[in-house]
Amino acid sequence: MSDLLMKLNRNPATSAITKALGLPNPVELARERGAYLAHPFEGKTALLARSVDGYAADALFRSLVDAGVTPIEQAPPEGGPPLDIVAMDATGCASPAHLRALYDAFHPIVRRIARNGRVLLTACDPAMAETPAAAAVARGVEGFVRSLAKEVGAKGITVNLAYVDRDALDRLDVPLRFFCGMQATYVTGQVCHVKARVVAAASTPFKNALAGKVALVTGAARGIGMATAERLAQEGATVVALDMPSAADDLHQACGRIAAIPLMMDISAADSPERLAKFFVERFGGLDIVVHNAGITRDRTLANMQDHFWDMVINVNLAAVIAIDEAFLANGVLRNEGRIVCLSSVSGVAGNFGQTNYAASKAALIGYVAAQAPLLAPRGICINAVAPGFIETAMTDDMPFVTREVGRRLNSVKQGGRPRDVAELIAFLSTPAVAGISGDTIRVCGQGLMGA
Ligand code: NAD
Repeated sequence: MSDLLMKLNRNPATSAITKALGLPNPVELARERGAYLAHPFEGKTALLARSVDGYAADALFRSLVDAGVTPIEQAPPEGGPPLDIVAMDATGCASPAHLRALYDAFHPIVRRIARNGRVLLTACDPAMAETPAAAAVARGVEGFVRSLAKEVGAKGITVNLAYVDRDALDRLDVPLRFFCGMQATYVTGQVCHVKARVVAAASTPFKNALAGKVALVTGAARGIGMATAERLAQEGATVVALDMPSAADDLHQACGRIAAIPLMMDISAADSPERLAKFFVERFGGLDIVVHNAGITRDRTLANMQDHFWDMVINVNLAAVIAIDEAFLANGVLRNEGRIVCLSSVSGVAGNFGQTNYAASKAALIGYVAAQAPLLAPRGICINAVAPGFIETAMTDDMPFVTREVGRRLNSVKQGGRPRDVAELIAFLSTPAVAGISGDTIRVCGQGLMGA
């Protein structure tokens, strides 16, 4: 779906009118076109800021160097090149006075961050802080990040936070490459937790990151699922793209284009988990990546909702996910160091009018990944959820014009995301090297105001 307002803004014949009307003028968001995580920072200017006694600054420095850029630690003089990346280690902030380091680091340079620039902060996980004051201050960094993201979002700049544990510093490189790379286009104002609890893979390839892996993407005939199947295949995975038998034509067409293997199945049928497990064992000896993308809405206010609408949404969006995982996990069908990604929604984070069924199912997935993560950690398996906001798909195309226009603009970057933006986050969470992050829910919503 094309964004009419952006088209009018870019057209010399109409741009004066949109300006005179005071309509938003969203920036053209930069998106990654090259190989995932390979050489993302060539030619970029990166500033590294430190807080006193922070423990993650050296790891940030090393990760930036490994990614192909030598960070500077002093901002260049006024008139110098804009800053493409700003990384700040705030793990040393443990008292209210230490928060001043955030002001001191960003106040002088905030206007000098490039369009589509990237900002990443690291802080101590409040749950790991040594004193209540230190926990409060660590949580304070989150407030700073979310607010700064709102202030700079109109320039396409993203601002994110990694809470990193002392024993997980060697796991910062992949989150750094994602959050400071162009793949993070529509992910801003977000927080992830980098921990050492999951058994980690030995090697961390950044190119063809999924070579040799077998992936299942459900609901892959169109929209986010199709973009995800394509993205995982681009990284070298063998992708099985599943959808309803009724979507067979679209599925075959998509699979022909991206060289995926089509599989027609209703995930909510009682025998689907067993059939799926059998399919992957017989065909590939198991699988490595599961993306639970298939999802449905049946919106009604609770007072008007028929019981079968309730049941259908819970069955497809939640019960099928749990049942399929049970079948994959029971006999090691999902191999060690596997990755599971569930599609939640900002409706699951914040709730939404007319979506009690949908929001219940999507919030449940947030709880599900958090509870599963420690159970799967000894096998090196990571499980996370992504929560999209307004993404330009067939679903949002169907909205009435005004609802769609409002939904599109109510975020920090003033435009909708693309299926590819969600697929980038899913690809990142599917990477073997992302072993530090499990149990998290990351929104891909341009920092939508809903649930902010
Ligand atoms: P979509 O409706 O375009 O595609 C969903 C696909 O899932 C369809 O091809 C459909 O046939 C398939 N599917 C539905 N039920 C199935 C079943 N029982 N078995 C097998 N396949 C089934 O959806 P989308 O917009 O691409 O969204 C993908 C996921 O992201 C969903 O889980 C959705 O809830 C979530 N999400 C989307 C948005 C958005 O703005 N598009 C926002 C938040 C969350």
